[in-house]
Amino acid sequence: MTHHYHIQVKGIVQGVGFRPFVYNVAVSHNLCGSVSNDTEGVTIHLEGPEEAIKQCVDIIRNNPPPLAQIIDIKITKLPPNGFKSFTILQSTTTGTRDVFIPPDVAICHECLEDFFDVHNRRYHYPFTTCTHCGPRFSIIDDIPYDRDNTAMKPFSMCPQCYEEYTNPHNRRFHTQPNACPQCGPHIVLCDSSGKVIQSQFDAIISQLQTILKHHIVALKSVGGYHLACDATNDHCVNLLRMRKGRPFKPFAIMVSSLQFLETFCLVTQKEKELLLSKERPIVLLKLQKDIVSPYVAPGLTYIGVMLPYTPFQHMLFSSNDESIYVMTSANISDEPIIYNDDDAFERLGTIADYFVTYNRQILSHTDDSVVYVVDEKPYFVRRSRGYVPAPIFIKETPLHILATGGDLKNSFALARNNVAIVSQFLGDLATPWGNDLYRKTIAHFCKIFDVKPKLIAHDMHPNYFTTMFAQEQTTLQTVAVQHHHAHIASVCQEHSIEEPIIGIAYDGTGYGTDHTLWGSELLIADTKEFIRAAHFDYFGLPGGEHAIKDPWKIGLSLLMTSSVDDSTFFTQKQEKEFVKEIVYKTINCPATCSIGRLFDGVAAILGVAHHISTEAEAAMLLEEKALEAIKDTTVFEVPIKQEQTLVIDTAHIIQEIVNMIELHVPVAAIAMRFHRAIAEVTITTACKLREHYSINKVALSGGVFHNRILLHLITTGLAKKSFDVYTPHKLPCNDGGIALGQIAIARENIHV
Ligand code: ZN
Ligand code: ZN
Ligand code: FE
Repeated sequence: MTHHYHIQVKGIVQGVGFRPFVYNVAVSHNLCGSVSNDTEGVTIHLEGPEEAIKQCVDIIRNNPPPLAQIIDIKITKLPPNGFKSFTILQSTTTGTRDVFIPPDVAICHECLEDFFDVHNRRYHYPFTTCTHCGPRFSIIDDIPYDRDNTAMKPFSMCPQCYEEYTNPHNRRFHTQPNACPQCGPHIVLCDSSGKVIQSQFDAIISQLQTILKHHIVALKSVGGYHLACDATNDHCVNLLRMRKGRPFKPFAIMVSSLQFLETFCLVTQKEKELLLSKERPIVLLKLQKDIVSPYVAPGLTYIGVMLPYTPFQHMLFSSNDESIYVMTSANISDEPIIYNDDDAFERLGTIADYFVTYNRQILSHTDDSVVYVVDEKPYFVRRSRGYVPAPIFIKETPLHILATGGDLKNSFALARNNVAIVSQFLGDLATPWGNDLYRKTIAHFCKIFDVKPKLIAHDMHPNYFTTMFAQEQTTLQTVAVQHHHAHIASVCQEHSIEEPIIGIAYDGTGYGTDHTLWGSELLIADTKEFIRAAHFDYFGLPGGEHAIKDPWKIGLSLLMTSSVDDSTFFTQKQEKEFVKEIVYKTINCPATCSIGRLFDGVAAILGVAHHISTEAEAAMLLEEKALEAIKDTTVFEVPIKQEQTLVIDTAHIIQEIVNMIELHVPVAAIAMRFHRAIAEVTITTACKLREHYSINKVALSGGVFHNRILLHLITTGLAKKSFDVYTPHKLPCNDGGIALGQIAIARENIHV
């Protein structure tokens, strides 16, 4: 008896080898019918004996190809059609679009074997790829995911590639970026003016290995350009710092293998998994041996490391597998990575001595993702290549929503039905170039995910670019979302928590409902609303929230607010009297309770950092100091005052620190005790809130939780007090994660 079923599969099912997979499963079960991509996913017709169809569907559901992610399978019975065979049909473009685009992933083992096999026609061909690996998101221009809608459009396949592409038994069947040396893109080596000086691949590699010993090279990678140099050469690394105007912010490095990496870094099991994963993020690891130049990550004992993820990167180590390269995003200050060739030559010409580029366009930029592991749990610093644009499943939203994110470390998000797509890292939106890219990326996302926003959620901050952008969209309903509420709602959304929880949001600064700068918030919140239940006490922020590059000014203000004699501090500063005056008179000195700024100020008081070049630098250096005294378990108690809310006594912390300085307690020990005191008072406050509100769930978020010591002390301390602790793992805890929270809050506050 012949049966006919129509099967609709939704999820990440295009560009991942889904059709050939279905073809092979169907044919091996002697079934007839068809499979095709359409704008809703993959449509399958299966005709044959009922039992065989059932087996087939089970395999599709339970063992899809490596890059596939199925959300939904809908099965409908139809009258028999009389199919004579099983075929793969052309794509159709009608109907609503409901497909997802896979992220860019590392080259797979089989392709790497082809690449290193002298007898293979893809020997040393750097664009070797297959259905299970390589670029996707970065080369897609529109859906359906067909070659004509990708950056591969200009390259027509040679007969051999076409044979693979059309042969269902080939690993490259329907691989849109399929290419070979005869028909695909090519790499060239150029000087800084753009003049090609080598175009033969093996010659490029050997020249490059020599050049990299003494020069800086811009390398076009998957999601944009990297700047590379020899990480063991002080002169080169320093030169790169000078040319980039980046004195402190650490550079990531790339090494050939895990085996070599373990000779100089401590790598835990979880860290190994991440390093070797197909997403290949940068993983922050503890340095054990001084093998790289100290200028790679000045003053820090954690270093960002990644393993090669493209054939080209594997080749960089062909003559010496113990090479270590700086591999940092080619960008200007905190902007996103540069990814188009004209921009690269124009803007990097004074930084890079040589360029390696290729003749295929990058359509979506992605920086390398950055993760760190605390207590064997992974956390994002930056979510981009390898992870974006994988969907995050959420509670159903009745309207399409755009959430604009924050102005620092920006990522925006779109939501449709039960899916949110969070964008790649877009950096700090402080320049016209960054603003322009932001607008372009939103438009591109709306196109490729077919979202037409009806509602736009933005931060409450009146001066954010992202707020102004939202207000420009005059035809849309807007929702202003409090910054720390968004941080916490994001964690609630990620863990599908609907009831109110205790949310601890510790970060730089965020605009509060009372127009002051918040940043140490303990909220009672769900995804609809919140109560501000506790925070640290306020202090003056001389110069306002943008003047964060002078931690000593914050330190001075903290001393003054705490009624501590400041005469022995910052005595060498010419502007000291001037700063004191603006703090006294509160001119251009807004009040803040930011815990991030408290860390900066304490770092300055302890002499760990006075001037910094990048946000959170002082706090990072303070954490490093504390690590030296990690075994010091002394902790001082911080009073909690009962006002309208609970207020943690910031002044007392400063007084304790100054006391310890006077008693000549070593700086590292003071730094460590400060961390412990903050953790301790946080846990005590959470206990008070639990008592009052009868809530046992706690969510943590905010950029301050990039601090490993604090994250460890607070999560383990809360767990010891039997709290259920939730932390963000799908998105960064910094402002890169707030867009998802904005989506959730907007959805709960829709007035229809
Ligand atoms: Zn492959
Ligand atoms: Zn070819
Ligand atoms: Fe924040």
